[in-house]
Amino acid sequence: MTALAAHGGPKTMDIPGPHYRWPIIDPSLERAVSDQMHRSLSDRDARGIIGEYEAAFAHFVGTPYAISFSSGTSAIHAMSRIAGLRPGDAVLAPAYTFLATASPFAYDGVEVIFADADDHGNVTADSLAAKLAPNVRAVIVTHMWGNPCPMDEIVAFCRSHDLLLFEDCSHAHFASWGGSRVGTFGDMAVFSTNQKAITTGEGGVLVTSNDRYRELALLYGHYNKRCLSEIDSSAEYYPFAFTGMGLKHRMTTLGAAIGLHQLAQADKIEARRRGVLSRVRQELADNPVVTPVLVPEDRGRHGLYVTGLRFCPEAATVTRDEFVALAVAEGATEVDAPGSTRDISGEPLFARRDSFAPWKPEQVAAAALPGVRSFQDVFLKIPIWGYEGDEELIEGYLAALNKVSGAVAR
Ligand SMILES: *Cc1c(COP(=O)(O)O)cnc(C)c1O
Repeated sequence: MTALAAHGGPKTMDIPGPHYRWPIIDPSLERAVSDQMHRSLSDRDARGIIGEYEAAFAHFVGTPYAISFSSGTSAIHAMSRIAGLRPGDAVLAPAYTFLATASPFAYDGVEVIFADADDHGNVTADSLAAKLAPNVRAVIVTHMWGNPCPMDEIVAFCRSHDLLLFEDCSHAHFASWGGSRVGTFGDMAVFSTNQKAITTGEGGVLVTSNDRYRELALLYGHYNKRCLSEIDSSAEYYPFAFTGMGLKHRMTTLGAAIGLHQLAQADKIEARRRGVLSRVRQELADNPVVTPVLVPEDRGRHGLYVTGLRFCPEAATVTRDEFVALAVAEGATEVDAPGSTRDISGEPLFARRDSFAPWKPEQVAAAALPGVRSFQDVFLKIPIWGYEGDEELIEGYLAALNKVSGAVAR
């Protein structure tokens, strides 16, 4: 067997970085952005590219309404406010997620109660039920790393306890569960379009089928011109249209041009990325050390954000972090054990009382979250590529993972 690069052997791959770039910057994207630059840099209403982008996004998800925001974080904050959550109320949220799934609720002084994860890193009806408290008014789920949560049981749980359901679909733009697209199960859902499968640089989209939520979303992000022209003047909240509710969260028109360009090719992007995912699944099928983390295809379709892998400590002579370092030394520099997406339940924002931080009901004791622990300790990821000419990268990464696995397998 060839020696590992970390032990003086040849590197599996030697392709100059960066190894993952998104979106594909081709002449047609450059033209879309420069055309928009000449048209307008900022739109106060939805008659131009913002409206066009929102309509395309709604069509993409299969939902009646999509309202753009400056970030996924600001769109999640709007969901909290639209739902009328207040200090004293609580929301059930995943402990294992990116922090912005839960931080906007804390900003509002809403108590966040954290739920455990299953072996896909997702909350379930049972893990949510275990944390149910009398002041819980809503649930937010994240479809982690692209794998959809078990939405049929989560919808049933929320109905039976009269809870609002929010979805954080930031990892899951192309995902579905039981044939329905994620983002269509809840009362509202948010898709970040930061560095995600559909990207606008910075941006977020709130989707809903509820007219009232749509109009309130405008008040929470798009005061004045848009609100005055788009909100039903007989609505009880119409008098707020001029001022909105106090903050502005508009995205830029250039971001919308970038997003619209990708949405126009969504089928092509999806086909290409699904192809990459099945290549990885096929190639790692018999690898005892790392296996893809994928919800079974007869239950749900993957969201195509990244390829998640599970490291099997019993099958290897090294730790997960040593495995990652060995793969990186082979030249597969994007093999990653994520650091900023992890158990957030102990963060001071949620767990501590400080005079300079948002209101909190009381000092919160750390909860035992065995599912989160065991998932995050063995998780690693590689990109899902998706552009012409990426074959060399994909095959290089697979060869590096297989080489290191072969060398460290028990
Ligand atoms: C990226 C992300 C967010 C935040 O979105 P921004 O657009 O970066 O504000 C929220 N939740 C999850 C799961 C994310 O991955």
